[in-house]
Amino acid sequence: MGFSVTIRQWPTPIAVETGQTVLDAAVAQGVPYPYGCQSGNCGACKSRLYSGEVELSPYSSYALTDEERAQGLVLACRAVPWSDAELAWLDADDVVMHPLRDLVCRVAALEDLTHDIKLVRLAIVEGGPFTFAAGQYAAVAFGDLAPRDYSMANVPDRSGQGGELIEFHIRHVAGGASSAYVAQGLAVGDTVRVKGPYGTSFLREQHTGPILAIAGGSGLAPIKSIVETALSLDMRQPMNLYFGVRDERDLYMEDHFAALALRHANLRFVPVLSSPSGATARRTGFVHEAALADAASLDGTKAYLAGPPVMVETASKLLEQRGLRREDIHADAFYTEAERVKLGGLGR
Ligand SMILES: Cc1cc2nc3c(=O)[nH]c(=O)nc-3n(C[C@H](O)[C@H](O)[C@H](O)COP(=O)(O)OP(=O)(O)OC[C@H]3O[C@@H](n4cnc5c(N)ncnc54)[C@H](O)[C@@H]3O)c2cc1C
Repeated sequence: MGFSVTIRQWPTPIAVETGQTVLDAAVAQGVPYPYGCQSGNCGACKSRLYSGEVELSPYSSYALTDEERAQGLVLACRAVPWSDAELAWLDADDVVMHPLRDLVCRVAALEDLTHDIKLVRLAIVEGGPFTFAAGQYAAVAFGDLAPRDYSMANVPDRSGQGGELIEFHIRHVAGGASSAYVAQGLAVGDTVRVKGPYGTSFLREQHTGPILAIAGGSGLAPIKSIVETALSLDMRQPMNLYFGVRDERDLYMEDHFAALALRHANLRFVPVLSSPSGATARRTGFVHEAALADAASLDGTKAYLAGPPVMVETASKLLEQRGLRREDIHADAFYTEAERVKLGGLGR
């Protein structure tokens, strides 16, 4: 027994099993539902309930205030239907619909970007073409391991012909399963399964105001896709890309972005070191603080953020305090299993 749930941004109702959350069912059925922590802490999946009844499991009041709840808002990641229901996520204008694909890929290239970040290029063997919006991610399964989420770093192929390579930047997390395998075991020619695309922190192509892009570590992957896609579409607004890392040895693709900024007068690329080991002429401090210190005004700006959860959450809060609306902040926090468990979500 289950329920039929209509999501206003999706053409067909979805089936939600008894006890399942709306978000789990939606994501499993390929709906590009906005979400972040999946544990009631970030508010990214905030939605308006139009009809039906849902039970909400515990959530933080930062994610959903009592006032919002009283106005009929819910968190899809906490909402378990008790009846058929209809709801819509709040970001109603911003939907992309790329078909959910189950791809079999082969590792075409591997490269060390830094001491702990690998570039992985995959060629699609079966299941393509793979279309996605710049900034989205996929669930990637290496060897026999459980899938993990990784953001595509390349400009999406719009030819519809297939044949493109999918690029990922994967940082080795201490004690991690997939990222250790990528760092130590993965080889060119290996088979990799990719399911996606997912995510709603994608480039808004109709937006003409300034773009503020903030990446931390391998968070550069989706930000690279967003910025390069914007440039390839001849979007002319100012784009300020801040890339935060700990130290010199953590920087990568600096020449690439410096060259892009030379070719495109509207792009500014600013690397920021948070813990430089020696004297440096570079910007130092937290990347979001540098970005905000430079921004005289955020009028009409859209912010794209990706990387460590603490950076993304702090930056989002500061941007909101500076007057940016939540719907103009498109953020992917790279939660790991440990962080999901800490937040009270379920590890996989
Ligand atoms: C939307 C999104 C996009 C992402 N994109 C990228 C990207 O482009 N590049 C990138 O490098 N990363 C990205 N990530 C992070 C990525 O998905 C993985 O979380 C990361 O690579 C670690 O995976 P792992 O399998 O190596 O580690 P895991 O096996 O998941 O372990 C991570 C940590 O959790 C601990 N742990 C594991 N299971 C448990 C448990 N049950 N309880 C407590 N602790 C546990 C481990 O000891 C380790 O310290 C993204 C994450 C999200 C959510």
